[in-house]
Amino acid sequence: MKCIRCDREAVYFRVYSGEAYCARHFASSIEDKVRATIRRYRMLDIDDRIAVGVSGGKDSLTLLRILVKIERSFPKAKLYAVTIDEGIEGYRRESIELASREASKLGVEHIVVSFRELYGLTLDLMVEEARRRNLKLTPCSICGVLRRKALNYTAVRIGANKLATAHNLDDEAQTFVVNILHGDLFRLIRTKPVTDRREGFVQRIKPLREIPEKEIALYAYLESIEFQSEPCPYRGLSLRNDVRVFLNTLEEKHPGIKFTVVRIWDNIRSTIEKDLPQVELRTCRVCGDPSISDVCSGCSILAALGLKDIEV
Ligand code: SF4
Ligand code: ZN
Repeated sequence: MKCIRCDREAVYFRVYSGEAYCARHFASSIEDKVRATIRRYRMLDIDDRIAVGVSGGKDSLTLLRILVKIERSFPKAKLYAVTIDEGIEGYRRESIELASREASKLGVEHIVVSFRELYGLTLDLMVEEARRRNLKLTPCSICGVLRRKALNYTAVRIGANKLATAHNLDDEAQTFVVNILHGDLFRLIRTKPVTDRREGFVQRIKPLREIPEKEIALYAYLESIEFQSEPCPYRGLSLRNDVRVFLNTLEEKHPGIKFTVVRIWDNIRSTIEKDLPQVELRTCRVCGDPSISDVCSGCSILAALGLKDIEV
């Protein structure tokens, strides 16, 4: 089979669109799709200071590589790579090294911030403490909230006005299903490709949201990006992981179903969002971050783990 853009042999057949690509044109098709996503959702301006969340996995290193290419045309823009070290023994150190190496190769400043320095404990110790206290907190529910808080904190600290994360099509489809299963209408509506501009929150963007995970893996391989392939040891414990397996099974039988799920989500959101009242943001009375409740979810978790005092 030949590439649809040249005479070379194809290395990849995109089942859901019926297009075949050689290695070079596959890579440029991914970069074009990311540019199109950025344009469609108006994710970037020419003079942005962009903090890129880089974990050291294939998605975030691919995002960094592509954003560096895109930002070459915008000399007033500046990129920073930000890695959050949650403190997961035997897992995180390798990915930090990979992120550091890639950032220095690309000439991007790399900033590493750890749970231990921000919150006083590593994630491993928080998980132990949660078990000791019989809390209904999974490792991912602690990690997800506190990592989001740490990324926002770091982006604010370095003066970034955008925070790019490497959520791909699979992540977006999983998030939709997980929010449905949790019955979480608020998150269902408020989780967007570009978050609203709100005081204290750096605007979050997801330039890879229309690229399937396996295409990112192929891009990383073809572009010789060295990434960590070991999954996090806690991943198997999450509901999201079961949803991931379920969606992958569906996608095998019905190519394109993940796109359909994300499109449905976008349509539902744009239909009902305008009729919903804007949720008033308050200030967390413990840490001062913006929050929808009196105490933000990060401080609630830290208090439950005995790492913060909350006066009643
Ligand atoms: Fe954190 Fe869970 Fe992801 Fe591991 S799998 S890095 S614990 S959110
Ligand atoms: Zn707080």
